[in-house]
Amino acid sequence: MTQVTVWNEFRHERKNPVVTAIYPQGMHAVLATALREQGFTVRTATLDEPEHGLSEAVLSQTEVLVWWGHLAHHEVADAVVERVKARVLAGMGLIVLHSGHFSKLFKALMGTSCDLKWREAGEIERLWVIEPAHPIAEGLPELIEIAQEEMYGERFDIPAPETLVLASWFAGGELFRSGCCYTRGQGKIFYFRPGHETYPTYHLPLVQRVIANAVRWAAPGQGPVPTFGHRPEPLSPLRAL
Ligand code: ZN
Repeated sequence: MTQVTVWNEFRHERKNPVVTAIYPQGMHAVLATALREQGFTVRTATLDEPEHGLSEAVLSQTEVLVWWGHLAHHEVADAVVERVKARVLAGMGLIVLHSGHFSKLFKALMGTSCDLKWREAGEIERLWVIEPAHPIAEGLPELIEIAQEEMYGERFDIPAPETLVLASWFAGGELFRSGCCYTRGQGKIFYFRPGHETYPTYHLPLVQRVIANAVRWAAPGQGPVPTFGHRPEPLSPLRAL
């Protein structure tokens, strides 16, 4: 079964009583439990652990990494960002959640600012499934409604997604590309928008379903390991025309 590491900055939960009440053990604990219930082998890692909990050993045993960060993107060591990025390029799946859009890791993999509009006003969010045949949409209704969320609005400064699975409408009128698929090297990346820390979003079964589907989709395939470089010996005899 796919081995998953759920990484969380884990600062809001320890600073803000509103967030503590929603996620007493941290949002990584809630996500890990939800993924274990889907049969995944899950460990967690947080910013304040040595090497942010993302040592070579941990990453070598991680097939899909889930990432939530916000307050402390700048505290994530560049060496760890490089290590994780290299693993993604080598085939590890990556699920970037909500404010992870501004992480060093996501920006490095996208190559753009990843900036957006935002407003924290407890708005209704309606996520529309716009690619119902995609594996990440499996088992979802046509529309997921979240009673209260932070608004993220376009433009979201990302490269055009290879597949856009979900798009959001907010009560205030903005739109947002909320479920974006990419390939970088051999790794699959999914950006999923919901998950502001002061709302109980990651307790919602349909949100958990999207994340579990995304983990399944992003897991490394069984294809050949590519090789590169100079080929002085041809595979078959070279013939003059
Ligand atoms: Zn937020």
